[in-house]
Amino acid sequence: MLPKADMHVHLEGTMAPDITKRIADRNGLQLKPGLLAASGAHFQWEDDGTAQGALMSFCNAYDDVAGVLRTVDDYADITYDYLHRVAGEGCIYAEISISADHALQVGLTYPQLLEGVTRGYEKAKQESGIEARFLSTFVRHYGVEKALNAAKLTHDNPHPLVTGLNIAGDENALTFDDFIPAYEAAGALHRTAHAGEAAGPESVRAARKAYSCKRFGHMVRAIEDENLMKELIALGAAPEVCVSSNMVLKVFPDYKSHPLRRFFDAGLKVSLGSDDPAFFSTSIGQEYDIARDHFGFHDDELLQLTKNAIETAFVDEDTRADLQRRLG
Ligand SMILES: [Zn+2]
Repeated sequence: MLPKADMHVHLEGTMAPDITKRIADRNGLQLKPGLLAASGAHFQWEDDGTAQGALMSFCNAYDDVAGVLRTVDDYADITYDYLHRVAGEGCIYAEISISADHALQVGLTYPQLLEGVTRGYEKAKQESGIEARFLSTFVRHYGVEKALNAAKLTHDNPHPLVTGLNIAGDENALTFDDFIPAYEAAGALHRTAHAGEAAGPESVRAARKAYSCKRFGHMVRAIEDENLMKELIALGAAPEVCVSSNMVLKVFPDYKSHPLRRFFDAGLKVSLGSDDPAFFSTSIGQEYDIARDHFGFHDDELLQLTKNAIETAFVDEDTRADLQRRLG
């Protein structure tokens, strides 16, 4: 099986309907009516036909799903469930965005969140050898104050598995500069940022300038700006590309217009991500299948996506070398 890496995935976005219902049941909670699609296979949200509207409505549905979590065990279970499933698809490494804010909203502390995800990670790793790291993630539309609080929690509770920072949510809420103090306060961690998804190429420029990051969540709309593309190629920029997410959230109308192939051929350090697999009816295995079936990636090119992922992963050098040995 081709070794794979999921370089862009949000923990609560992995919560498949079955485990979400199970956790809601044991916590005595009901799923919000209409949250689950009629098929029962994935979650759904309102779609007003625009990328911005779809993103915000999706963010609300995401919060509703995450809202059934209550305990350290819940976080351990969803982390294990996700890692166990993707290990079965050949995934050797996952980088998972976690959110202090989502834990706080259900009455857990940040250390409890870390306790849960660590336990889930350790169980999955013991069983399958899958490796993972966590990114402490600011939710942009929750505002600067909450981001600063999440940054302080991250700083005050250093953890060997939490190796990076991310900012997600509504790309059109506030500015990257507004969150520089949060990135600074969180400590010396690796940095990525969602940019160039709902917002245009200027957002990639702004994220680069604000955080000096070389990795970007999505970055796909950089394709609209030729000069920016040249800068990003020269920089060795690493876009975490999530094709199914982009399709569902209408960033591009079809595979043909999606820049995955153009990014790869231009020499960007492209890797793949499932983003929120329970919402976008996908998995990291399916994202590799899509690259092969819709973008003509051969096996050696698919392997190169994983090589790019491991090269740009937020891990220590021993772990990187260990993962590289598993690439064959
Ligand atoms: Zn994302």
